[in-house]
Amino acid sequence: MRGATLPGNSTVELVDLPDPTPGPGQVLLATRASTICGSDIRAIYREHIQGDPAETYQGVVAGHEPAGEVIVLGPGTRRLAVGDRVAVYHISGCGQCDDCVRGYQISCSSPSRAAYGWQRDGGHAELLLAEERDCVVLPDSVSFLDGACVACGFGTAYEGLLRAGVSGRDSLAVVGLGPVGLAAGLLGGALGAVPRVGVDPSPERRALALQLGAVDVACAPDEVASLTDTLGAGAHVAVDCSGSTAGRAAAVSLLRSRGRMVLVGEGNAFEIEEASPTLIHRQITVHASWVTSLEHMRELVERLPVWGLRPEVVVSDRFALEDAGEAYRLADAGRSGKVAIVFQG
Ligand SMILES: [Zn+2]
Ligand SMILES: [Zn+2]
Repeated sequence: MRGATLPGNSTVELVDLPDPTPGPGQVLLATRASTICGSDIRAIYREHIQGDPAETYQGVVAGHEPAGEVIVLGPGTRRLAVGDRVAVYHISGCGQCDDCVRGYQISCSSPSRAAYGWQRDGGHAELLLAEERDCVVLPDSVSFLDGACVACGFGTAYEGLLRAGVSGRDSLAVVGLGPVGLAAGLLGGALGAVPRVGVDPSPERRALALQLGAVDVACAPDEVASLTDTLGAGAHVAVDCSGSTAGRAAAVSLLRSRGRMVLVGEGNAFEIEEASPTLIHRQITVHASWVTSLEHMRELVERLPVWGLRPEVVVSDRFALEDAGEAYRLADAGRSGKVAIVFQG
């Protein structure tokens, strides 16, 4: 099979690898869609980040947001059938620790934990070897591209919103309108949050967010004061998807008293100059949320058709595997929506 790896110098390498054979409890997927995540750019594509074993790339086929069709069942598989359409939860855990039992394989600390696209082969190849238990079956009306978008980005945004208990009682501010911010705005709307505002320095990203209906109002970071017209006393919930120190500060500043802050975007520092006026006297709750659980991912793919929500609307650009280098260059530029590698079915 043909696959793409990321050498770590802002290039993509196409390689030929033997077709994998599923072992016990595994399935072989024909990959149909594999989207690119901000984490791929930050921790692998530009350079290989070292230190955290969860973020150490081991030269495997990249891509941790895969969706595909089951084509071969390994021995002992019990749930899936050939022809099932699935998205893959992007971390394979030990399956037995407290975190795995709760479906948060992301937090599994077993040495056997391996993330697709980081420590085991991921979705940027024609075939993908997956554990049956990591596969989430997609309803008929949820496309492969929808599923790939859920595998990391939409799942991550959904989890952040659930953590803050977002509902129709809340207004929502989303800081950072990249793919995860778009997902937070769209899913926040599905959960009933109104109004929704967005902040991003990129005019292209603000325009896309408004066009998709992810937010009702969008502005640049130096215009956040104007959002009081929409938010009144402030947002009930602010989600930072920017991962920047300034973005997090903006998110906190947009909250009303007793507001809830959710940290979703990764990297950089979270700096609070004066804890009392900024957090304590305003009685702010800060949630930190990392990826999602298998349970919430299954719940999300089931709810999407009910809400009439198509995650693939955030995909702005699609590329064949042969053009993965171009796909990564575009994703790295940070002005597009979600960038996807798609395969012929
Ligand atoms: Zn991701
Ligand atoms: Zn585990």
